[in-house]
Amino acid sequence: MIGRLAPSPTGALHLGNARTFMLAWLQARSQGGSILLRIEDIDGPRVKLQAATEAIEDLRWLGLDWDGAVVCQSDRLASYAAAAGRLIQSGRAYPCVCTRKEVEDAASAPHEVGDDGPVYPGTCRGRFPTLMAAKEATGRDAALRFRVAVGEVPFVDGFCGPLGGRIRGDFVIQKRCGGPAYQLAVVVDDAAQCVTDVLRADDLLPSTPRQLLLYAALNLRAPRFSHVPLVVGEDGLRLAKRHGDTSLRWFRAQGVAAAALFGHLAFLCGLRPQGTRCLPRELVLDFDLAKLSRSPVRGDTTGFC
Ligand code: GLU
Repeated sequence: MIGRLAPSPTGALHLGNARTFMLAWLQARSQGGSILLRIEDIDGPRVKLQAATEAIEDLRWLGLDWDGAVVCQSDRLASYAAAAGRLIQSGRAYPCVCTRKEVEDAASAPHEVGDDGPVYPGTCRGRFPTLMAAKEATGRDAALRFRVAVGEVPFVDGFCGPLGGRIRGDFVIQKRCGGPAYQLAVVVDDAAQCVTDVLRADDLLPSTPRQLLLYAALNLRAPRFSHVPLVVGEDGLRLAKRHGDTSLRWFRAQGVAAAALFGHLAFLCGLRPQGTRCLPRELVLDFDLAKLSRSPVRGDTTGFC
C-alpha cells in the first residue's frame, strides 16, 4: 500500500490540510504502507514562493514523516505533456480555444452549471486536429479538453461507499499556457509513483470521475479513493481566511505544542476525546477509517487555544 501527502503551496497549511494529511498518513502507516510527499506546485500565480518549504517544515513539526525523496510537480512537466500528447493522438482530447466568458455565455441555462463552473457545451469538439492548427485558424493559444462520452463513472469510495460518479462536460487537461491542469498532473503522478490509496477531502469528489476516465484512457491503474468530510468554520462553510488564522504557523507562534494540535485534530475527527495530546504514532495502532465521523468537521479551536 502506498499513500501520499499532496500539498498545494498556495498558502500556509491550515487545520483542514493538517487533518487530511493526518488521515492519509494514518491510513498508510496503520496498514504498514508507505507514504510519499508530492508538492503540487503547478497552479501558476497562486503558488507562493516559500510556501513549499514552509509546508514541509509544518508537516515535520506536526510529526508526520514520508518515504523517499520529495517530488515537485514543477519538475515533471515533460511527463504531463507526454500524457496529453497521447490523449490527443488517441482522439480522447482536443484543442479548445473558448474563453471562460464564451463558455459561460454558451451555457446560459442555470442547470448547465456543473461542479466547477459552467458545463462545456462542446463547441471545439472536432474543430482542430492539433494545437498548432487551432492557433493558425484563430490566432489564439488553445487549451486541451478531455472528451467525456459518459454521464456517470460509478466507483466505490473507501469511506463513502458506492457513489454514482456523475460527470458533466468535457474538462481541461492542459491550460492555454501549455501547463497541465490539476486533473491530468495528479493522475500522471499517482500512477508514476504507484500510489494505491488516495485519501483527500470530499471537496475533490467531483474530480474523481474525471480522474478515473483519465486512468482508463491512459491505460493506467487507478488507486482506491477515500473522501473524508471537509473541515468547515463555525458557519458551516469551508475553512478560509474569514474564519481567522488557523494556519499551523499561527498555532506554533502562539506556543501551541505539536502534540496538542495533533490531539485536537484527532478530537475533530472523532478519534480521541477533547483535550488529548498525542503524537501521530500513538494513533497508528487503533486507527480505523470507518470510525471517523461522517458529518463535516468543525475546525473549532475553542478550549484548545
Ligand atoms: N493538491 C491538492 C490540494 O491541496 C490535493 C490533490 C489531491 O489530493 O488529489 O487540494
